[in-house]
Amino acid sequence: MAQYIQDQVYQDSLENPEEFWSRQASQLAWHRKPTKAFQRTTKKLKSGVTHDHWSWFPGGKISTTYNCVDRHVLNGNGDKVAICWDSPVTGLKEQYTYNELLHEVETLAGVLREEGVKKCDVVLIYMPMIPAALFAMLAIARLGAIHAVVFGGFSPPSLAQRMEASRPKAIMTASCGIDGSKPPMPYKGLIREAVEKSSYKPQKIIIWQREQLRWDPISRETGERNWNRLVKSARNRGLKAAAVPVKSSDGLYIIYTSGTTGLPKGVVREVGGHAVGLNFSIKYLFGVHGPGDVMFCASDIGWVVGHSYILYAPLLAGATTVLFEGKPVGTPDASTFWRIIEEYKVTTMSTAPTALRAIRREDGDNDYFEQIYGSRGGLRTLRALFLAGERSEPSIVQMYGELLKRHCAGGAVVVDNWWSSESGSPISGIALSAAAGKDFTSNHRHAPLPIKPGSAGKAMPGFDVRVVDDEGEEVKRGTMGNVVMAIPLAPTAFTTLWEDEDRFYRGYLKRFNGRWLDTGDAGMIDEDGYISIMARSDDIINVAAHRFSTGAIEQAVTSHPDIAECAVVGIPDALKGHLPFAFVTLSTHHHPHPAVPDDKLFKEVQQKVREQIGAIASLGGMIQGKGMIPKTRSGKTLRRVLKELVENATHDEFAKEVQVPTTIEDIDAVEVARAKIREYFTHKGSEKHRAPEARAKAKL
Ligand code: AMP
Repeated sequence: MAQYIQDQVYQDSLENPEEFWSRQASQLAWHRKPTKAFQRTTKKLKSGVTHDHWSWFPGGKISTTYNCVDRHVLNGNGDKVAICWDSPVTGLKEQYTYNELLHEVETLAGVLREEGVKKCDVVLIYMPMIPAALFAMLAIARLGAIHAVVFGGFSPPSLAQRMEASRPKAIMTASCGIDGSKPPMPYKGLIREAVEKSSYKPQKIIIWQREQLRWDPISRETGERNWNRLVKSARNRGLKAAAVPVKSSDGLYIIYTSGTTGLPKGVVREVGGHAVGLNFSIKYLFGVHGPGDVMFCASDIGWVVGHSYILYAPLLAGATTVLFEGKPVGTPDASTFWRIIEEYKVTTMSTAPTALRAIRREDGDNDYFEQIYGSRGGLRTLRALFLAGERSEPSIVQMYGELLKRHCAGGAVVVDNWWSSESGSPISGIALSAAAGKDFTSNHRHAPLPIKPGSAGKAMPGFDVRVVDDEGEEVKRGTMGNVVMAIPLAPTAFTTLWEDEDRFYRGYLKRFNGRWLDTGDAGMIDEDGYISIMARSDDIINVAAHRFSTGAIEQAVTSHPDIAECAVVGIPDALKGHLPFAFVTLSTHHHPHPAVPDDKLFKEVQQKVREQIGAIASLGGMIQGKGMIPKTRSGKTLRRVLKELVENATHDEFAKEVQVPTTIEDIDAVEVARAKIREYFTHKGSEKHRAPEARAKAKL
């Protein structure tokens, strides 16, 4: 018998999925109970291909909104706080109890019904981080319709693309978004341009008017409606809509993947598995048990993390969720996160490592954390800091591990957890309340499994994670390979892509002939079962026939105390094919201006790489700069853009256009990188990087 509870629970979930997930399903209110938890099926595609498939909770009927809202009111928890909205960009704060939330959501659902939204219709949401956005998601789900949230601020072409793909009956939006300390950004032009670009036209555009910048005038002829007025009128008439239960396998939402590898894929989340899996994970993994526990997920509702852990999971648990409209730095400074923990008595926090790196650049000595909030005991409620979205380098896990130990709840831990839009909830992590996996009613908080910095923990129940070679054969523990999963995936995970069964097969199953589902990530599992995600498979660097992950090299580089942030890409090399090349931002108070680092720093970093990985992985060069590493709006490093820039530079094509995904956060970073690269290569020369073989082309 496995020693740790988390290991026992995991084993149980794979060996007895029917019993395990039936138990979890019984925690929710079903309009019709499922006949069973799990069913294996076979899918036949139009192309003639057949593949194994699965379904969760067949025969069941359920309403997610009912479980997130009505259920708690009926259980007598209506006066507990459901949502705390904190908006440093507007200076506003609001709170909603479950009673108030129910009132908002049932009224808005009534409005949507009057505006023609029905079960199974798609409604697109393009909203800033305000309570109305959460009401919209819940109201759409209440009608059994399907939401497709697109990150507020995406460009008209990205929005139009998602509109064409999902054909929404209506769009719910706001008059403006506010991106950090920038002035309010009007949505009117963006939405109208997107509708114009899209060959499919939604019937209604429902606009939440924000006082910071109104959408005037509203054009009724083109289907535009004033959301605030519709709600007011509905209230006056006592208009409400009851929850519409839907089949377990019906869609709750569509979420588009970032699209860095082609057209965005519309991941479909099924109602039944989503509710059961999230209700389980928020307690088991995140340690949020119910009323009194406060979750602060500093993400955006445009990402899967926001869907799951700002909205659905904390509300399924009946806990409080903090909705934050601001940035880790600049709204007003790098102390905002810590203020929120203190002010709302946050018990679990979740963010992306990139946010912590941004804080580290502004507050290198952690003065805000320690001297202000920590020392006055303001952070004592915090039990865990969850990090996801990208690999967390060990140095950041270790640093925050120490800070939590000193200033937060006893036993507080930093948990790197790995997942994706496709998985819907973490595929791996360290469970804070593992006992809940045996008996969901247990409020025991056993000591979690030990944390191993650099690893994203162990597989979560229901996710059968393996590492295989390119032929699909499992590799030895501790060996790098393709990270895959066996079918079925856990209940929160996708089972298909929106109206594209074929692409689901081609994109995920075909590579290993349906035997494994390909995650697109490369990594390893160690002897103890800890999973390390080291790179996207496409980012692996081949040096003289040795394969290195960007993650391993970045880890070595960031172990140098002066490096705040790093991105490694492969650069062509005449001798070895490719060499790792580092882009770094320093954590020193005054960042040096030149792109070429001083010799001493470069030698020290090179030494770290040699010691930790080996001489063969020695860096082919290093460029330093601030604001130079391009990222997606969800905080992922766009290594491909840097790679294309350096490849062009090795051919002296400094000014050549590079392909930049529309999901980029700060387009200026590309030009900063371009200028730094030019400066570097003008100084160092590019001859040795002219690989004799054909130029590798960055795929986008
Ligand atoms: P998305 O679907 O946009 O959430 O992106 C999912 C991808 O982000 C994964 O396939 C990984 O490549 C990466 N990712 C997410 N969390 C982690 C993590 N904890 N460690 C390493 N990579 C991660």
